[in-house]
Order: sequence, then C-alpha cells, then structure tokens
Amino acid sequence: MTYIHDTIVKLQKTSPAQAEFYQAVEEVLDSLQPILETNEKYKLHSIIERMVEPERQIMFRVPWVDDQGKVQVNKGYRIEFNSALGPYKGGLRFHPSVNAGIIKFLGFEQIFKNALTGLPIGGGKGGANFDPKGKSDGEIMRFCQSFINELYRHIGPTTDVPAGDIGVGAREIGYMFGQYKRLTGNYDGVFTGKSLLWGGSLVRKEATGYGCVYFAQYMLADKGDSLAGKQCLVSGAGNVAIYTIEKLYELGARPVTCSDSSGTLYHEAGIDLATLKELKEVRKARLSEYLAAHPDARFIPVTDYPADGHAVWRIPAQLAFPCATQNELTEADAQALVANGVIAVSEGANMPSTQDAVEVFLDAKICYGPGKAANAGGVATSQLEMAQNASMQRWSFEEVDEKLKVIMKNIYLSASTTAAEFGEPHNLVLGANIAGFRKVADAMIEQGVV
Ligand code: NDP
Repeated sequence: MTYIHDTIVKLQKTSPAQAEFYQAVEEVLDSLQPILETNEKYKLHSIIERMVEPERQIMFRVPWVDDQGKVQVNKGYRIEFNSALGPYKGGLRFHPSVNAGIIKFLGFEQIFKNALTGLPIGGGKGGANFDPKGKSDGEIMRFCQSFINELYRHIGPTTDVPAGDIGVGAREIGYMFGQYKRLTGNYDGVFTGKSLLWGGSLVRKEATGYGCVYFAQYMLADKGDSLAGKQCLVSGAGNVAIYTIEKLYELGARPVTCSDSSGTLYHEAGIDLATLKELKEVRKARLSEYLAAHPDARFIPVTDYPADGHAVWRIPAQLAFPCATQNELTEADAQALVANGVIAVSEGANMPSTQDAVEVFLDAKICYGPGKAANAGGVATSQLEMAQNASMQRWSFEEVDEKLKVIMKNIYLSASTTAAEFGEPHNLVLGANIAGFRKVADAMIEQGVV
C-alpha cells in the first residue's frame, strides 16, 4: 500500500489540485497490487512512475468572437498520455467543468480501456472549458475552428486521433475536421465520430451505449440470466444514454429512467425513445418537456435530490446503467441500489461510481462492469472507423455491429478470466485493470526507456 500512498503524494506535488486524476490512479494502483508484488520487472523499469506521467500535455488559449462581437477566451487541452500500443486515441470534452485534472483522469483511464479492446490504440484525451449550451451554431463553429487552429499541429491519422465526448458530437467533429483540412490540406482519418456523409462509420454513434448493454448481457449470461423483462435505471440523456436505452428495448428490457443536469425523469411504463430522441437530438430541450407528451411520467428536479446522492439510483430496479458523468453514483446510492435488489451495474460513463460506491458493489458480489471495460465499445468502433478510412472501405451496419459484439465479448472474457486468475472471479475492476496494464506495461518494456 505504501507505493500507492507515495505515488499519490508525489502526484499531489508535481500535479497539484487534480482530485479526479488522483482518484483514477488510486483505483488502478489498488487493483494492480497482486501483479506489482510478484513482478520485479515492473519496478525495475519504473512502469508506474512512467505511466502516471503523460508523454505530452498540450494546453492552449482558445479565443473566439461571440454573436455580440465580444471576444471570449477558453482553455483548451490535449493530453497525449501513452502511445505504447498505438496512436493516441480518446475523445474531446466541451463542458464548463473541464480542467487539467479531469482531462488527465479521462486520459489515464483511456490507456487501459484501449488496451483492453485488443486494438492497436494508445491513450489520450482532450477538450475545453467551453459550454456549448445556449450557443448559436455560428458560435460553436467559431469556437471549434479556433480550437483546431492550435490543435491541428499535434494530431494526425497515425499520431493522435480525437473523437467526441460530452458536448462534442457529429456537428462539432464536422467543424473541427473542416478547419483541420483547411490548415493542412489533408483529407484523412484524423477524427472519428464523423458524419456518415464523409468518412464516418455506421454504428459509431450507437457504439458506446450498445456496447455497454452487450457487456451487461455477457455478465448476466455467465450467471445463467438475461436482460429480458428486467427493469433498468439509466442516467444521462445524451449519446451514451439514448443508445443504451435503444439496445435495452431491443433485448427485451424496460428502461424506466434517464436524467440530465436539471433532473431525473421516471416513466414507469418505460421511457419513450422517440420522444427522448426528439427532445435531445433534434430540439436540444430540457428533459422536463417530456411530460408534455407523457403526463403519466414524473420529473424529479435536482433540488429534490437526496443530500447524499442522486434520485435516479433510489428507484427500485434490477439493472443500473450510469451514462452521464464522473462521480454521479455515491456510496449511499450504491447502498440503495443493492438494498433494492439490483443484480448488475454496467457503466456507460467514465468513472461514474465513487470509489466507496465501487466497494459496495464488490462487497455485495453483484455483477459490476467498470466503465473502462463496459464503455469501451465507443473507442473500439472508432478504431473500426480508422480501419475503414485507411483501407477506403465502408462496412455495413450489421458487419460493424457484429464486430462490436465480438470485441465486447472479448473484453468481458479478458477481464473475467484475469479476475479469476488472481483469485477474485467477481472482481472485474481488478480483472480489467490488470489485463489492460499487462499489455501496456510489457509493450513499454519492449520499446525501451522512452
Ligand atoms: P453527451 O454530452 O451526449 O451527454 C451527457 C449527458 O450527461 C447529458 O444528458 C448531460 O446533461 C449529462 N451530464 C453531463 N454532465 C453532467 C453533470 N455534471 N451533472 C449531471 N448531468 C450531466 O455525452 P456522452 O453521452 O457522449 O457522454 C456521457 C458519458 O459517457 C461521459 O462520462 C463520457 O466520458 C462517457 N463516454 C462517452 C463515449 C462516447 O462515445 N460518447 C465513449 C465512452 C465513454 P446536460 O445536457 O443537462 O448537461
């Protein structure tokens, strides 16, 4: 345990005030103990010290002009964390809460997630503290162009390939790609999550949500159970949440909730997917407007949430899919879920459960799919988009979906067999972290001290 403590203390000095990053590092190091204790080579090669330090961190000013003619300034980031397994790969997040610590936690998680997919991709992440809410289309475009005016020199189809994340969808990717093309003259696969009109892959939009449900399906199948007929809680109402809900319906389950930053929607009859898509994908409206079409649903505003957590997790259900953001599921929420009989949690978001909440799930020995395994379908399908771009091919929806299912199955098997190898078969946190770590660490050793 002392090396965990020593590592965190060192990070607090060299990278101050990055709470989410320390949290992510602590969780990974905690589960790596069995492998670090028995393998001197990782100590000899200072693998942990090298892994927690990004290969490169780019921070830059993003000036842009708003519709009133006033100059606004945001802060942009790209953290190129680890390229042992391939070009840096990971999304861009545009949200007012973005800071260096959040981008570093996401980038650090991405290293292990990408390794778990078995595909040749390294780990990176980026974004800006820009709030897209309430901005006009022209403002979004000018911001994206300014962001790329700096970032373009650091990215490329074989060096660093960004994608979307919170606040970044096909529209933003389009504006960023356009500016990259203008500055470099290159029409190449430098972004994933592109529009289907110009190089995007079928299933990329759906992949994170679908993959997260496939992961739950594989966890349940191992217990002789299935999704059919199960009542499900979903948080978030963005890309990941919407396609989690879509796949849950396809596989016979009943999602009854979703949420956004204004509150939680509970519809006992089942969330109406068409209304949700219309609200969030077309009109970009608040979730409470759902009630106009479905007065039998209930909206719980954030002001009515319990002091120690999130209303969505207090509703009885058998399955839970956190798909909004980090630390959205507290220890008290986890206790409520377990007390209400939840049998599986599959994380669509990155690090949505606090460390204490994860302990509650592991102690209760329910099926728990940590984000870096359960939500890896998004980045895996991004890599399939890169493969299609590089070979100038276009695969069908069924072909990509089939590959996604196989990748999710392999991720599940890799995490579960590694967990069993280390004597904790139910602990997919340990299994996912060790399985991902071994690939990256061994590649780093083989590539020398770089
Ligand atoms: P979107 O921007 O499409 O949606 C995010 C959703 O979460 C919105 O409903 C948003 O509500 C809600 N949300 C965001 N921040 C907060 C907050 N601080 N409090 C409450 N609600 C919040 O993002 P995605 O669906 O793409 O991403 C969701 C999660 O999935 C993130 O953790 C992301 O890192 C992770 N992820 C995404 C992948 C992808 O392919 N897109 C891949 C792997 C992981 P509101 O609109 O009101 O802000």
